Amino acid sequence: MMAEDVPAHNRADAQAGGAPRLVDLAQGIGVAGAEETAEATVGLHHPASGVTLQPAFDAHHPPSAALIGDCVHCGFCLPSCPTYLLYGEEMDSPRGRIYLMKEGLEGEALSDTMARHFDLCLGCLACVTACPSGVQYEKLLSATRQQVERRYLRPAGDRLFRELIFHLFPYPRRLRLLLLPLLLYQRSGTQAAVRRSGLLDRLPARLRTLHEVAPAVPRGWETIPAWVQARGKERMRVGMLLGCVQRAFFPHVNAATVRVLAADGCSVATPLRQGCCGALSAHAGREDEAIRLARRTIQTFERAGADAVAVNVAGCGSHMKEYGHLLRDDPVFAERALRFSAMVRDASELLAEIGPVAERHSLPVTAVYHDACHLQHGQGITRQPREALRQIPRLVLKEVPREREICCGSAGTYNLLEPDAARELGDRKARNVLAAEAQVLVTGNPGCHLQIQAALRRVGVAMPAVHVMELIDASIRGVDGETLGRH
Ligand code: SF4
Ligand code: SF4
Repeated sequence: MMAEDVPAHNRADAQAGGAPRLVDLAQGIGVAGAEETAEATVGLHHPASGVTLQPAFDAHHPPSAALIGDCVHCGFCLPSCPTYLLYGEEMDSPRGRIYLMKEGLEGEALSDTMARHFDLCLGCLACVTACPSGVQYEKLLSATRQQVERRYLRPAGDRLFRELIFHLFPYPRRLRLLLLPLLLYQRSGTQAAVRRSGLLDRLPARLRTLHEVAPAVPRGWETIPAWVQARGKERMRVGMLLGCVQRAFFPHVNAATVRVLAADGCSVATPLRQGCCGALSAHAGREDEAIRLARRTIQTFERAGADAVAVNVAGCGSHMKEYGHLLRDDPVFAERALRFSAMVRDASELLAEIGPVAERHSLPVTAVYHDACHLQHGQGITRQPREALRQIPRLVLKEVPREREICCGSAGTYNLLEPDAARELGDRKARNVLAAEAQVLVTGNPGCHLQIQAALRRVGVAMPAVHVMELIDASIRGVDGETLGRH
């Protein structure tokens, strides 16, 4: 891809009046200096703290020089990077960010500019899939995020907003307190009236996004027993993660997952006192919080005594497979974390391993499958959900015809923290989803579900969105396809 291929309307100069210098990928090796590309994305209406830390990184797990050295600057990752597609800025590409990490290790200061380029990274890991040299960008980013989060002083409003997010989303009980007021807001027609009024356009972008992606409160509440016996002969004992947002707003997805696993021969334990796995915290660089939540999750599932831990949220599964790395310094948990991570399976991965047993009934719908980044790039899972869906008679499975590897902009809390970039990516993904001409959107992550549906609503399209497990469950139970996505 040539730099000219970056659409003009997506360039930062169109948004912020900056002067981005697009990188010509045909030039191959060669990294532009930070000062050459800093302006455009840093200037995207983002308040700066004005505080500069010298050096950028302290001695507690800085990004590894050896891993940085694996990058040969070939640029093959650039076309897969959503922020490079949006801004055409070298320092908003994986190669540019790795260069900034190297500068930081060599004593360069952690400035607003440098922090901004790291903040804009979605952590989608498309660059990891694309890299022919096996650069472990996920480890580099994780180390860098922890440094930024621990050391960089954000402006007060930004700090407050982040604290609000991280004192709410990882706590299902606190999220449940929102259900009643949100239900009243949605069912009274106020939400629809606010959407129509144009009032949202006058709100700050972060608040507007919070409103746009707020999940619909489910109509019914499906209680999941702590233990569900396998139907027929037990083939495996599985512990299941209920998640945080998933548990509060998508209980039907959890219920469907348990039914599917049980129907295919798994006894399922869902410890009710389980908490957050820590994925949101870890992806934001909140190391202590992520470690605390990981330890608790390991203890919870050790007590459940399962052969595997099933997860139906892409970001959670991807993170739980990295517990070994997160807890590598912990004398009590390091070994246990490695053992635990080896047991973690996405629900579709688990089904592919054990093979289907329960009969799948006809489900005549046309569905388009969206790959969540933390499934396709984070865990390398693309075949299993497609195979599971193709086992459903009369279901027509379509692909997103363009940019399948590009993030929808959800990326954990990214759409709340970086609403402008996320909105552009969401709109772009919605256009590509619509091009598939399907009736139903199917994905394996609640964040993608909410993000793409919000983008579809902006263009006046109300397409039902369901989880992979909901489609399989509907097929096993012989449910009418017309009811899909209604909860
Ligand atoms: S993780 Fe995603 S956004 Fe970040 S550098 Fe890699 S491809 Fe770009
Ligand atoms: S991260 Fe990989 S693909 Fe990207 S420039 Fe470095 S070596 Fe090339």
